Amino acid sequence: MRIIDHFIAGGTAGLDQTRRGPVYDPNTGAVQAEVVLGDAATLDRAVAAAQAAQPGWAATNPQRRARVLFRFKELVEAHMAELAHLLSSEHGKVIADSRGDIQRGLEVVEFACGIPHAQKGEYTEGAGPGIDVYSTRQPIGIGAGITPFNFPAMIPLWMGAVAVATGNAFICKPSERDPSVPVRLAELFLEAGLPVGIFQVVHGDKVVVDAILDHPAIGAVSFVGSSDIANYVYQRGAANGKRVQAMGGAKNHGIVMPDADLDQVVSDLAGAAFGSAGERCMALPVVVPVGADTAERLKAKLIPAIHALKVGTSTDPDAHYGPVVTAAHKASIERWIARAQAEGGEIVIDGRDFVLQGHEGGFFVGPTLIDHVTDTMDSYHNEIFGPVLQIVRAPDFETALALPSKHQYGNGVAIFTRNGHAAREFAKRVTVGMVGINVPLPVPVAYHSFGGWKRSAFGDTNQHGAEGVRFWTRVKTITQRWPDGAVDGANAFVIPTMG
Ligand code: NAD
Repeated sequence: MRIIDHFIAGGTAGLDQTRRGPVYDPNTGAVQAEVVLGDAATLDRAVAAAQAAQPGWAATNPQRRARVLFRFKELVEAHMAELAHLLSSEHGKVIADSRGDIQRGLEVVEFACGIPHAQKGEYTEGAGPGIDVYSTRQPIGIGAGITPFNFPAMIPLWMGAVAVATGNAFICKPSERDPSVPVRLAELFLEAGLPVGIFQVVHGDKVVVDAILDHPAIGAVSFVGSSDIANYVYQRGAANGKRVQAMGGAKNHGIVMPDADLDQVVSDLAGAAFGSAGERCMALPVVVPVGADTAERLKAKLIPAIHALKVGTSTDPDAHYGPVVTAAHKASIERWIARAQAEGGEIVIDGRDFVLQGHEGGFFVGPTLIDHVTDTMDSYHNEIFGPVLQIVRAPDFETALALPSKHQYGNGVAIFTRNGHAAREFAKRVTVGMVGINVPLPVPVAYHSFGGWKRSAFGDTNQHGAEGVRFWTRVKTITQRWPDGAVDGANAFVIPTMG
C-alpha cells in the first residue's frame, strides 16, 4: 500500500507514524493509499524546521522572494498535467476542473509575485517637528493553513503563496481525504528555490489540528472547511492568542428575476450547481425564481438540461462531473435528498442510487432537482454539498432578497436580471459577502479578496489580495527623530502631541 508521508524539513519525514487514514479512489471505491496522521511531536519537528529557516527568509529582500514564486509558477505550469491527474485521482473531480483548481491557485501565486509592491509600508515626512513616522508590514513568523478536501491545490495556495511571499514559514495541514497535491506543491516550492522549512506539509486529523491551535510558536492560523469546525478553530486559536481567519460552509442562492435570459441562466446553473459534483463552497445549490411564471419557465428548461448532464469518471473527457469524495459523503447527500422529500419537497429528478456501469463501487451521485423547497425545511438551511439543486419559489423581489439575507450562511449569492436598478439594490442590501450580477460563481480574482459573512467566515480578514497580505503580516510603526544636537526644550512629562 502506498503511504503518503508528511513533508518536513525538505523531504518526507520517514516517521514511524502508526495512525493512518485511508485515501480512496472515488471512481472505484478502492483504498488507493494510506496517509500518515501526525500528532504534536510531528508538528514540533515541522515547527523546529520553520524556526530555523524563517528569520533568513524574512530577511531575504522581497524581490528575491518574488523570484522564487515566479519560478514556482513556471514549475507548476510545467507539471500541470501530472498535478491535475493526481488531484482528480483522490478528489474525483474531472481533469479539466482539476486544472481550474490549480490555475486558480496559480493566480494567487501571480498576485504574490507582486509582493514587493503589495507589502510596502507607509511614510509620513514631518509628522511633527523633525519627526517622521513610518509603518512596515512584518511577517507573523510561523503560520499554519488547515484546508478542506474540495480544493486541494487552490486553497493551500490561497494561504501558502501569500504567507511565504510576505516572509513567513507556512505549515499546511491538508484534508486527509486528498492529501497528495499539497505534498507535490511543497516539492515544487523547494525546486523553485524556497528554503527548506518554509513550506511544509503535516498530515493529520483533529489531533494535529489541536496541536496547531495550541502551539505557542504558531502565530497565525488560516482555516477553510465546514462551519462548526471553523468556529471551533477560531475560538480555540483566538483563545490561545493567535490571529485566526476561519472560512466555513455555504448555501449560495441564485435569484432569477422575471426579465432574466433564462437560456443563459440554465446554462450557468447547470455548471454552478452540478460542476465538481456540487462540492464547491461557491456552488449555487439554491435557485430562487421570482414569480410563478418565472418558476414554471425555468423548471421547464432546467429539466432537459439536467437530464443531458453526463456523470462519468474523473478521467472521462466528456463527463460534466465525477464521483463525490467518499462513500460517507455520498450517503450523506442521499440522506439529505430523502429528508427534503420527507419535508414536502418535490423530487423532480432523483440522483439517488445512480450507478456508473463498470464502476459500481464508485461514489457517484446523479444530478438531482428538488422543487417546492421552502425556508421552513432543514434541507434548505443546511449545506448538502452535492449535485443537488433546490428550487425555492419567491413571489416578489423583496422575498427573494430576504432568503439569502436571513440564511445562516453568507458566502456567495447571484442575481440574474436585465434590470440594473434591481441588481444594484440587491447587491447593496443582501447580507452576503460575495455577490454575482449575472455571474453564477462570483469567486473574486486573486488581487481582490475572498470571504463570506455570517457562519461562512469567522474572524475578520479575507483570503488573498490586500486582505491576505494584512492577515499574514503585522504592522510596526516607527516614529523617528534625528536631533541636530540642540536640546529640545519640550516638557518631557506631558504626553507628546503634534500640535
Ligand atoms: P471539514 O470541516 O470536514 O475539514 C476541513 C479541515 O478540518 C480538514 O483539514 C480536516 O482534517 C479538519 N478537521 C476535520 N474535523 C476536524 C475536527 N473535529 N477538529 C479539527 N479539525 C478537523 O471540511 P471538508 O469536508 O474537508 O470541506 C468541505 C467544507 O468546506 C464545506 O462546508 C465547504 O463549504 C467548506 N468550504 C468553505 C470554503 C470557504 O471559503 N468558505 C471554501 C471551500 C470549502
